[in-house]
Amino acid sequence: MTESLEPPPHMSTEEFRQAGYATIDWLVNHMEGVDQRPVTPPTQPGDVRAALPDAAPQTGEPFGDLLADMDRIITPHLTQWQHPGFYGYFPANSSPPAVLGELLSAGLGVQGMLWSTGPAITELETHLLDWMIDLCGLPEKFLSTGPGGGVIQDSASSATLCAILAARHRAGGASVLPRLRAYTSAQAHSSAEKGCLVAGLASDQLRLIDTDKNFAMNPQALAEAIAQDQADGLVPFFVMATVGTTSSGAVDPLPKIAPLAKAAGAWLHVDAAWAGSAGVCPEYREIFTGLDQADSYVFNPHKWLLTNFDCSLFWVADAGPLTEALSIVPEYLRNPASEAGAVIDYRDWQVPLGRRFRSLKLWFVLRSYGVEGLQAHIRNHVAAAQDLAKQVAQHPQLELAAPPTLALVCFRHLDGDQASEDLLQALNATGEVLLTHTKLNDRYVLRVAVGATQTTQSHVQHLMDLIKELLDA
Ligand SMILES: *Cc1c(COP(=O)(O)O)cnc(C)c1O
Repeated sequence: MTESLEPPPHMSTEEFRQAGYATIDWLVNHMEGVDQRPVTPPTQPGDVRAALPDAAPQTGEPFGDLLADMDRIITPHLTQWQHPGFYGYFPANSSPPAVLGELLSAGLGVQGMLWSTGPAITELETHLLDWMIDLCGLPEKFLSTGPGGGVIQDSASSATLCAILAARHRAGGASVLPRLRAYTSAQAHSSAEKGCLVAGLASDQLRLIDTDKNFAMNPQALAEAIAQDQADGLVPFFVMATVGTTSSGAVDPLPKIAPLAKAAGAWLHVDAAWAGSAGVCPEYREIFTGLDQADSYVFNPHKWLLTNFDCSLFWVADAGPLTEALSIVPEYLRNPASEAGAVIDYRDWQVPLGRRFRSLKLWFVLRSYGVEGLQAHIRNHVAAAQDLAKQVAQHPQLELAAPPTLALVCFRHLDGDQASEDLLQALNATGEVLLTHTKLNDRYVLRVAVGATQTTQSHVQHLMDLIKELLDA
């Protein structure tokens, strides 16, 4: 006989309701006060662990203690990515509707690996990815009504890996693997390199193509690399172009790159992880010219489109090579809807099996802000950044280090690397702003990525005022 076991101490529905309200209240207070905190915390390595107990509690604790410890142990030791003075890396937007969509996704606790494991998860996702094509002026060949379609991935890195795996499959798979060659610019995101590594390519199988004076891929250099490899009996299978590089916002010339990829029979993947959000504004779409010739495309609403991480949108013109590369069907997942070919099973469009209900937060954002709200978000940031770029260019001690793209401004001190680095450190030491740096032409460069949810034109002007003050001091 089994002894009678105690049930686990689940929160009662009433306790959950109260704790839930308290959590939203806590979050609202945090959001309202985030600009009073230093953007970068004064934390030393080990500070957070020193404040935590050595072991998990033996019995459950009251929920109020948890929120109190958020105040005591967690928030003082966070880089405040939602601070309006956050200009580092690229933004990682969060917004109230996104948070609420995320909350519902967690509470529903559903898995969308197959259509049949939760039909609304798949169908809402497919539908939104079609909406986004119209919303961002993307090529219609990415619509789910044709051979292609879109999927939400956790990150652009995963999407790029999937593009590489699809391309590898289309090129002949494992049998030709040693002869495959991939191409991207020397300024491309490191995810291209990581994707090739995971796909089983040796590091010399990815060619990093030289860039021009504006840090965009030089198509002539690409043409020469492809021709050389073909002459050596190698197989160009994958070209990744970037619209808006991480370092400087450079835009690779798609209209020149696309025909080269096509002539070589290589898959063309376009990475616009950051810049893609600007596609919601028709006036910024010129940089995407040529995208209609791409085999796949990725951009991240989790960077600059008000949707909290993770939400990376990935489209393919033809889903065949992708699902052929990634589909493995064990008996326990067989079901009539899949067998009939009547549905999309997104587990075949990604590496993991399980998948979250990510489209809910995007749906909430799209419906809460509307197209016009999203456009206002992007336009305000671009205008603020362009104004900052103008003031930087006019400043006697500063110069732009690259042409500003959208809301990214790269600049340096005319006195050289040490002066640039000192300025960055002095700015960050104010606690009011966070900037990060890069190197362009081997010289130290400050980056200002305008794009945090709460950042307005007056915040960016405050940054310029700080820069001037520090240079005058
Ligand atoms: C940020 C970024 C990535 C990586 O995005 P994840 O979603 O974090 O993987 C890739 N490419 C570019 C151009 C980026 O700016």
